[in-house]
Amino acid sequence: MSIQRRPEADPCDPSVLTDVAAGHLRLTAAQCMRLYQEMPLAELGRWADARCRTLHGDHIRTYVIDRNINYTNVCTAKCTFCAFRRDLGADDAYTLGSDEICTKIEELEAIGGTQILMQGGMNPELPLAWYEDLLGEIKSSHPNVHIHAFSPPEVVEFVNFFDPPGSDFRAKVKWVLSRLQAAGLESIPGGGGEIFAPAVRQKIGMGKCDAEVWLTVMHVAHELGMNTSATMMFGHIEGIADRIHHMDLVRQWQDRSLADFGEAGGGRYMAFISWPFQRENTPLGRVQEWNPDADGAFPGDIVATLDGTGTKADHAEFGRRVRLAGASEYLRTQAISRLMLDNIYSIGASWVTMGPHVGQLALSFGASDMGSVMMEENVVSAAGTTYCLSEPVLCHLIRDAGFTPAQRDNGYDLLAVHDTEASPDLQVEDWSALRRNRLHIQSTEAGETVAISVEQ
Ligand code: SF4
Repeated sequence: MSIQRRPEADPCDPSVLTDVAAGHLRLTAAQCMRLYQEMPLAELGRWADARCRTLHGDHIRTYVIDRNINYTNVCTAKCTFCAFRRDLGADDAYTLGSDEICTKIEELEAIGGTQILMQGGMNPELPLAWYEDLLGEIKSSHPNVHIHAFSPPEVVEFVNFFDPPGSDFRAKVKWVLSRLQAAGLESIPGGGGEIFAPAVRQKIGMGKCDAEVWLTVMHVAHELGMNTSATMMFGHIEGIADRIHHMDLVRQWQDRSLADFGEAGGGRYMAFISWPFQRENTPLGRVQEWNPDADGAFPGDIVATLDGTGTKADHAEFGRRVRLAGASEYLRTQAISRLMLDNIYSIGASWVTMGPHVGQLALSFGASDMGSVMMEENVVSAAGTTYCLSEPVLCHLIRDAGFTPAQRDNGYDLLAVHDTEASPDLQVEDWSALRRNRLHIQSTEAGETVAISVEQ
């Protein structure tokens, strides 16, 4: 059955949402905006959960065991939300060698890991051969480890740094990605999505590619048969309509990829993951927080439009106030993403920034996947609080939420369904050694950062 559209229908009408949950009806951006603004949180969560159950059933919710490897912190961009980047030549700038990276992968394999998520800053000193050699070494020494690497902004910088052949940008991207794919690259993470609306992007992502370029890189990856994910970082200067517009663009470009390459075995967006901005140690985090009583309407909402055409000229205070997102805002946004992104398979919960229990709750607000056991995280933890969880704890959280935990691979195929007494969480006798470990990074008066681990 082809998906219907009824733009005139009331999106809060249960009969409309029943059709959405069943996958028969596509909501427009305007309908999603109304849902966001008008539907009580618990009700919205129930509809997102219904949609999730249509796609993923009532029983299994997944996780992956992978490792974040941030191969360099040298970066030419200056995103205002980033506390990770360093200038070339800075005292604490680093680039990992292949030996160090392979040691990290051995540690990953020792705990049953199947994939690496490898991303870095945009380091102008690294030639294409460095990447090809690295990918080749990883694949020859760890052939079973899936390489999920290089988000679109990195690919754009590869095009700038390597000066590849090609008559236009798309052809150059295709040349670079083909070389990396031949060397071992298998899929592309959705980093650098942030918020697509130009007014917001120009304020927060200084030096990063625009939405059209980001989406084009992913479209080329899909043409080459690689799957990707899409992301959104919200809860800063953007308006609610910017979030809906962002998701709408992901949906439109997924339609395009499926139409252009689906039958020929092309790739697609497999997952959408959204998370709130973490403010600590970042220039954007120093922007004054919006006070609705004193400041009136939030400037981001005045500027934001569902078609992304708002400009900073629409409000003098745009970009000078942030509206941080807490748990309910996060769950509301995620629930909307599940209802809106009818052509994307998985919605990932973001416990890394929101904490394990909100992540667990996210499984009842449309998320089907708990993401990764976290061995290492450098980028978000440099900007605030992140959480590290082991496999038994992650399984316990999923089971405690009412589901059977299952380890998956990058393609969302199930590797192990933990429905027996041999499950990682059911083997634990002493939880005291496995409590979640909260990592909090604080700034000192001298401007240095200090990592504090908090056992909970
Ligand atoms: S977020 Fe990424 S691209 Fe932006 S400054 Fe940080 S390392 Fe560079």
